[in-house]
Amino acid sequence: MTDADSRVKAAGQPGVDLLVVGGGIMGLWTALFAARDGFSVRLVERRMIGAGASGGVLGALMPHLPDRWNAKKAFQLAALISLEAEIADLEAETGFSTGYRRSGRLIPLPKPHNRDIALGHARDALSVWNTPDRAFSFEVLDAAHVTGWPAEAAMAHGLVHDHLAARLAPRSLLAALRAALERLPNVTIAEGVGVETIEPAAGLARFDDGTSLRFGHCALAAGVETFGLLAPLNPPLTKPVGAAVKGQAALLKAPVDPALPVIFADGLYIVPHENGLVAIGSTSENSFTDPLATDGLLDTLIDKARRMAPVLAEAPVVERWAGLRPKAIGREPMVGRHPDHANVSLMTGGFKVSFGMAHALARQVLNEIKGGTLDVPPSFTVAAHLEEAGRD
Ligand SMILES: Cc1cc2nc3c(=O)[nH]c(=O)nc-3n(C[C@H](O)[C@H](O)[C@H](O)COP(=O)(O)OP(=O)(O)OC[C@H]3O[C@@H](n4cnc5c(N)ncnc54)[C@H](O)[C@@H]3O)c2cc1C
Repeated sequence: MTDADSRVKAAGQPGVDLLVVGGGIMGLWTALFAARDGFSVRLVERRMIGAGASGGVLGALMPHLPDRWNAKKAFQLAALISLEAEIADLEAETGFSTGYRRSGRLIPLPKPHNRDIALGHARDALSVWNTPDRAFSFEVLDAAHVTGWPAEAAMAHGLVHDHLAARLAPRSLLAALRAALERLPNVTIAEGVGVETIEPAAGLARFDDGTSLRFGHCALAAGVETFGLLAPLNPPLTKPVGAAVKGQAALLKAPVDPALPVIFADGLYIVPHENGLVAIGSTSENSFTDPLATDGLLDTLIDKARRMAPVLAEAPVVERWAGLRPKAIGREPMVGRHPDHANVSLMTGGFKVSFGMAHALARQVLNEIKGGTLDVPPSFTVAAHLEEAGRD
């Protein structure tokens, strides 16, 4: 029996070992690993699974550059490598496809200094992307393997082909995670029910439908809304502990080989998916009026993509989409136990890279809940973010 079990039993009321708040990528992996470990789990989602940032269209799994190596980059590298096996298990277990492929990334080099810097990164990759199990290169090429992918005009000084980057179809992954959860008898998923307040001392969550639930432990994975739920639990702070950064993306229909690498150029992503779909992303907006509307900023991005990949010139847009990324004050994921509330853990702040790391973060958060360590870079911890938000 876990500590969480005993707390629930001691409370003498129906409850769960682990309450997961939020049905995005962070909450789903957390719920799945906990349930596989035998926890009784309730996943509560205010709207529907994938209603937040995770239900988008891009799905790029982009490594940090191999220069100035640090703990954050090392954690992400391990996560990007381990995701492949994690996804293979999930697909085998559920029979679902997640649209995962390690298709790599092309980065056009428009200026001579871009090439010099890239050659330095290629040397860095020889050491830091060379793990005992797998090695990934950061190749500098003179010309693209496929003409027009990307446009020659964009790469006067060649291009990079990074072999570590990958992609997946976000909604397909969410569907697979949901299917895996639904196969387990110790999990319930409640959609259309939001958590209003968490009372850690009582081990109690109150919902917006008037009901409540006792929990042994609560994992807050409510995306940008985590920061509001957290406010009453935090010590007095001088700055907000997190913010929402809006992003817009689009899906085009085009005859593009799904095996082609992702193109990344100056903030623009072009991600070939299966079934003749190509995703374009993303804007990054710190101020906005309508969080879920798409507008001229997306049109500009699509135009840029059509120039960068001429095969997209006439491609019809089949979907326009916008969402809010959770950005914690430290710009890093904000995960693990709350320093003032031993039965509350966070799983948020994935900002632009959640899809490549959520599974690895979830494993660590659960390990800590089970009494083990939280083996993440110190800058990811809740205490580190609270400290920054408390500084003048
Ligand atoms: C345009 C765009 C493109 C992106 N592209 C990529 C990419 O290519 N690769 C990548 O890795 N990342 C990408 N991201 C970032 C990524 O989507 C996010 O970091 C990630 O989805 C965050 O996941 P999450 O589970 O933390 O939050 P969310 O997916 O937002 O999930 C939180 C969930 O909690 C629910 N919720 C909120 N409040 C409550 C409550 N009180 N009670 C119950 N439930 C609640 C919400 O309804 C929501 O479903 C992109 C983001 C955007 C906007």
